[in-house]
Formats: sequence, C-alpha cells, structure tokens
Amino acid sequence: MYDDEAYLSKLETASWIYICFQPAPSCLSLYTLWFPWDKKTNYQYTLWALAKATGRLPLPAVGFDTFPRFLDACPFCSKLQANLEHILMRCVHSSRERSSLRAPRESWHSFAVFIFGGSFMPDDEYGLDPRIIFVADCTLQTAAKIELSRIEGEDAI
Ligand SMILES: [Zn+2]
Repeated sequence: MYDDEAYLSKLETASWIYICFQPAPSCLSLYTLWFPWDKKTNYQYTLWALAKATGRLPLPAVGFDTFPRFLDACPFCSKLQANLEHILMRCVHSSRERSSLRAPRESWHSFAVFIFGGSFMPDDEYGLDPRIIFVADCTLQTAAKIELSRIEGEDAI
C-alpha cells in the first residue's frame, strides 16, 4: 500500500530528480496505460517518462547496457561529466529546440519542472506535447553520437 508519509519523508535525501517535482507517484498518470498510443508516440513518451523518473539520460531505452548519471564528455560540445541537465538545458546543441519551448532557464529545477512536470497526453489535434518530443529527440541524438556498449542481440524498447 502506498504510504504518503513515508514517501514524503524521503524527499530531503533522495537524489533522483523525480522526487523534486512529483508530489506522488500518481503524477505519472495511469490513464497513459489505456491511451491508444501509436508506436512512435509510445516510444517518445517512454523516453520522457524514464528521464523524468530517474533524472538520467534514458540510454537503456535506446539500446545501451549502461545507465550512467554522467557521460564522460558531451558528444556535441565535449563538456566533461555531462548529465541530463547539460544535455537538455545547457548544451549548445539543443539551444534552438530549447528556445522554441520557452522553458525557464533560471535554474535546473525550474527547467525540469517545466519539462517534466505534469502528465502530458497526446492531443488529437496537436499530437504529442513538444516537451516530450524535445526530451526524446535529445536522447536519440545523443545516443547516436556516443560510444558506449550496446545491448547485444536486443533491440531498444
Ligand atoms: Zn554539450
């Protein structure tokens, strides 16, 4: 049974970004389980949700066998110890797409709340939320450029 008090008591010491802006696990809506996703939309949402839940670049979902908190170096600008914050918010590589989102840039926390807060559903008229597409695109572009071991004999999710 979900224990709200126990969950909230861990907020202070948790290192996952997930804790920062999800007041409860239910914020990843169960409604998403029954939505009639197409394959691409489902995949993009999976990448976004995994990044949201862990605060890491969702490399296992794109065929890697590692799930590092930091890349040794950013494949686009060579910044050392590049993490999800760098790839999504700071790297020059994603600046054009990031600008079009009009995300707040005062802090990683405000940026992350904007990108990951809530539970976005596809819209029949406009499609998937551009914030989800942004995270998915950044993940796929980064994965295409980095040299890490891949899962042998298995396809990505
Ligand atoms: Zn970079």
